[in-house]
Amino acid sequence: MSYLQLAIPSPLRRLFDYRPPRECSPEQLSPGVRVKVPFGRREVTGILINVTQHSEVPPDKLKPAIAVLDTTPPMPESILKLARWAANYYQHPLGDALSQALPVLLRKGDPCEYAHQHLWRSTPDADIAQLGKTAARQRELLLLLLEHPNGISEDAIRAEGGQTPLLKKLADKGLAESFIHNTDHHQHNDQPLHEAPLTLNTEQQLAVNAITATPGFKSFLLQGVTGSGKTEVYLQAIEHFIRQGKQALILVPEIGLTPQTVARFKARFNLPVVVLHSNLTDRQRLDTWLQAREGTARIIIGTRSAIFTPLKNPGVIFIDEEHDTSFKQQDGFRYNARDLAVMRANFEQIPVVLGTATPAIESLYNAQQGRYHWLKLNQRAGNARAPEFELLDIRQQPLQDGLSAPLVAQIKHHLQQGTQVLIFLNRRGFAPTLMCHDCGWLADCKRCDAHMTLHRKPFHLHCHHCDSQRPVPIKCDSCGSTELKPVGAGTERTEEALQKLFPSIPVIRVDRDTTQRKNAMQQIMDRVHQGLPCILIGTQMLAKGHHFPKVTLVAILNADSGLFSADFRGMERTAQLILQVAGRAGRADHPGKVVMQTHHADHPTITSLVTEGYQAFAEQELGQRIAAHLPPSIHCAMLRAEASHPGAAERFLGTLRNRLESDILQPQGVQWLGPLPSPMEKRAGLFRAQLVLQCRDRKNLHQQLHNIIREAEGDPDARKVRWSVDVDPVDMF
Ligand code: ADP
Ligand code: ZN
Ligand code: ZN
Repeated sequence: MSYLQLAIPSPLRRLFDYRPPRECSPEQLSPGVRVKVPFGRREVTGILINVTQHSEVPPDKLKPAIAVLDTTPPMPESILKLARWAANYYQHPLGDALSQALPVLLRKGDPCEYAHQHLWRSTPDADIAQLGKTAARQRELLLLLLEHPNGISEDAIRAEGGQTPLLKKLADKGLAESFIHNTDHHQHNDQPLHEAPLTLNTEQQLAVNAITATPGFKSFLLQGVTGSGKTEVYLQAIEHFIRQGKQALILVPEIGLTPQTVARFKARFNLPVVVLHSNLTDRQRLDTWLQAREGTARIIIGTRSAIFTPLKNPGVIFIDEEHDTSFKQQDGFRYNARDLAVMRANFEQIPVVLGTATPAIESLYNAQQGRYHWLKLNQRAGNARAPEFELLDIRQQPLQDGLSAPLVAQIKHHLQQGTQVLIFLNRRGFAPTLMCHDCGWLADCKRCDAHMTLHRKPFHLHCHHCDSQRPVPIKCDSCGSTELKPVGAGTERTEEALQKLFPSIPVIRVDRDTTQRKNAMQQIMDRVHQGLPCILIGTQMLAKGHHFPKVTLVAILNADSGLFSADFRGMERTAQLILQVAGRAGRADHPGKVVMQTHHADHPTITSLVTEGYQAFAEQELGQRIAAHLPPSIHCAMLRAEASHPGAAERFLGTLRNRLESDILQPQGVQWLGPLPSPMEKRAGLFRAQLVLQCRDRKNLHQQLHNIIREAEGDPDARKVRWSVDVDPVDMF
């Protein structure tokens, strides 16, 4: 007797044995095919890992599988290998990892094929006279079919008032037939380009040459200041691989925010460019996935999860804005798509390029260590010049709705020149919170250790951490006073103030609240690109990848907000954000200026950043990390736990640490930090704690994590807490 060993999407880190379904010869099944099985009270889709002759479970206890869903595995060998590698590296249950690597419809057990649309049409010699006078509704239906010689779907028939149950009657009489309509896959000609590529400058040419030089695996860090023409390097390197009949995969942080990048790919290539974005239906997503797998889609652009898209002829992988933390999944299967891209490129023996103006400190480290080949673009492309920085010391300046008087004067100056102004404020809403002027009470969230943000439109209090909302109180919760005042400024408030200061100039706010509608971002961009004077005010949504050729002044209102963060990466994030925002200025022929309001105008990090640039800052930062034994000079993992009772999560982690630390066989060199309450201990009603593990040796760290997971899974107390493991965390909260 043979058994099927399956990976099942479940929190349990083990495989499950099943008896094969009847009339199935297990020896003929390939690993990777999907198998529908009963699991608890549900039916789930598992993935075949092995066929074995032995099971540790007695055969009469094993349930039979319901059905084998595939003849060939949906995921090619390389993706299966990648997902298995990732499950192991990120210490995530294999079944769940494999499931997440598949499109949703395949997870649910749908057939691994394109959407076949079933249509109806009349038979070639159907004649309405063949129907008797009494069959009025059948006559109507047949007339409808005769009007649609190319076929009509059942949905469309119903929409026209036709009676679909009568279709069978017509079919029985030989008057109608159903057929399957295949959605066409575009055929394209031999000319892969729509438009001629730009003439590259020397730095760009060297980069393209390096990326396309030798076949096989190679990883590159392409560090180019904003506006240096990185995208043009991507386009021309991709052209090289396309001409060899290969495909390119491009990962970007957030597609909704970068319609321009997608548009540039579509404008350049006369080939199917597909985009895996969040507005796709599950059906469209599967079709796109199949096109990539079969090689009809040649250029695939997607966000994090697109790293698992199979490619028939892989040519090259690009990670745009590689420093962006959205490549790391922050819950469940906590993989980093950037790091997986390097692994995948290695498996598939192709080049991978990490592009950015502001490399993550760990990528810089990898480049310095020679693990990545370092390509640099130091010049802005075309005629654009680098922006000039000014630190605006606001220690003695009163702020009006977040704006200092010297800044308002500069905004006015630029608007008078007929150009555009961009204002960056990393806080949406009207004000960070509401305070009682009489007793100092603050509007706190009841479920989090956080203030609630005051929003004006619509008027309410909103917690940005747990999403809870409540009406704005009329009286202070604590002393009953009606003297409630908003504290600080968010984008809504500064927008209002700017509109009052400049009544004849359009003020356009860009944050999560104004861009929710589909195409909202595109409409805003269209408006800005008309080029008339305007003020853009927004959050980091404005920082990513946009081109604003008419913007000559960029103002950063709270440049130092991340300087004193509890997270050791606070400084790195602040620097990246400042430079990304600054990069929006003066991209075309207009010289740009960046004004940063700060209370710390003499802070060495800020000054080195603006006088010497990101590279100098980053090298200094890396030096400090190495000295302080922080990542990337050591490897790090984090255990998180949360529970509804205060202290329970911390106790759980503490017990784990004690048990493992006293084990004499524990791996060498693993350091424990904590457990400690998380920096925001209470969130969404749960009390959270964390325990950090650090080690120079990756293998020992993973061995210890393995032990921890085994211990935690066997711990009856683990049921009272939710715990998770995060390997290479990017966020220390
Ligand atoms: P990045 O991605 O590095 O921010 P882009 O590739 O978007 O830079 O290029 C910035 C601008 O410079 C774009 O408008 C682009 O068309 C233009 N550009 C890029 N390379 C060249 C070149 N070699 N010659 C002229 N213009 C260029
Ligand atoms: Zn009060
Ligand atoms: Zn909350």
